[in-house]
Amino acid sequence: MAELAKLPGIGRKTAQRLTFHLLKQPAETAERLADAIRRVRGTVMACGVCGNLSDEDPCPICRDPRRDAALLCVVEESGDVEMLEDLVLAAVAEAQKRAAELYQAEVRKLASGLPFPFQLPL
Ligand SMILES: [Zn+2]
Repeated sequence: MAELAKLPGIGRKTAQRLTFHLLKQPAETAERLADAIRRVRGTVMACGVCGNLSDEDPCPICRDPRRDAALLCVVEESGDVEMLEDLVLAAVAEAQKRAAELYQAEVRKLASGLPFPFQLPL
């Protein structure tokens, strides 16, 4: 219980609740949790290029050839990387959706005076 209470965001009450929860579970559940904690310590490392936590070095972000290695985004915590990645992906998806809508609206405007169906001369 004292070890759980040392974790960030886990107070004495939560540590107590987690301990009682684990005691009610089959022994394998606690073993799996202990194994997972051991594996994390054994396999997760800081990426040699950017310092991001990953089980691969260089991390998948640094190995991605589509990324511009000259551009950096500095975050305080390694956990912020995934949150930022999700935010950027969501923003890109939204921008692509908006661009497609604007494109369709413009094409509709341009095509409104034309007889349909029509063939563009090649
Ligand atoms: Zn990296």
